Amino acid sequence: SSQTQNILEVFDIVVEFDGFRAIDSLSLAVRERELTVAIGPNGAGKTTLVDVVTGRTRPSAGNVMFDGTDITRWQEHRIVRAGIARKFQAPSVFPDLTLEENLYLAARTSKTLRSALFGRRSGADVALVAGLLEQTGLTEQARRQAQELSHGQKQWLEIAMTLALQPRLLILDEPIAGMTQEEIEVTVRLLRELARERSVLVIEHDMAFVRSIAERVIVLHQGRLLAEGGFDHVSVNPQVRKVYLGE
Ligand code: ADP
Repeated sequence: SSQTQNILEVFDIVVEFDGFRAIDSLSLAVRERELTVAIGPNGAGKTTLVDVVTGRTRPSAGNVMFDGTDITRWQEHRIVRAGIARKFQAPSVFPDLTLEENLYLAARTSKTLRSALFGRRSGADVALVAGLLEQTGLTEQARRQAQELSHGQKQWLEIAMTLALQPRLLILDEPIAGMTQEEIEVTVRLLRELARERSVLVIEHDMAFVRSIAERVIVLHQGRLLAEGGFDHVSVNPQVRKVYLGE
């Protein structure tokens, strides 16, 4: 049925760096409108997997299918247009611009800076930006400069900017890094809500956070899929416990 359809599938992906296999015949899927978290020890291949999916790294073998289309080796911008958007850990907001201006820029990536800031704003963009501010709880801050925001608010603004691309698959790299406990709780609610309307793939290592958000967990180890399933299922998997706890 449509509820269990896969939005993303990777088949037998191999990524080699100077003969070292960072990804080793990896196959996995991300389902439509589900929040999937990729975990695994440092060096497991999480970042490389996302680099392959977003067109940043070319696999030496294997295929990436997005919504039934083979996107293997597509250019990054084409993959973004197809509906996969990634928020990096490193900040990408313009500190001197207001939240609204940052969002208009993000919503109109193909236009010039000048037209995004001073051009006539289409009704569609106005509605999109207002909706994004609302969804991320930033409506009251709309006219403030991005640099005035707290760390958590900046992260939510960046999520909103990524959403401005209207992705069907949103990929987030360690979204709670540096956040206070309160900010983490707000982020948990935000991500749960976002996953109702699109697929979300999160790379994360904070297990309390993983437990609170993951509908499905994929565990990578040495470039391979070690386990997958619900948090309670993978967390009792003997191989997973061995990798994480040395049991
Ligand atoms: P993770 O995100 O799970 O920590 P990575 O995907 O960053 O893991 O890395 C997987 C493996 O590939 C690691 O052993 C890492 O050192 C190696 N690696 C990643 N990128 C490169 C690169 N550009 N050149 C060489 N080795 C790399």
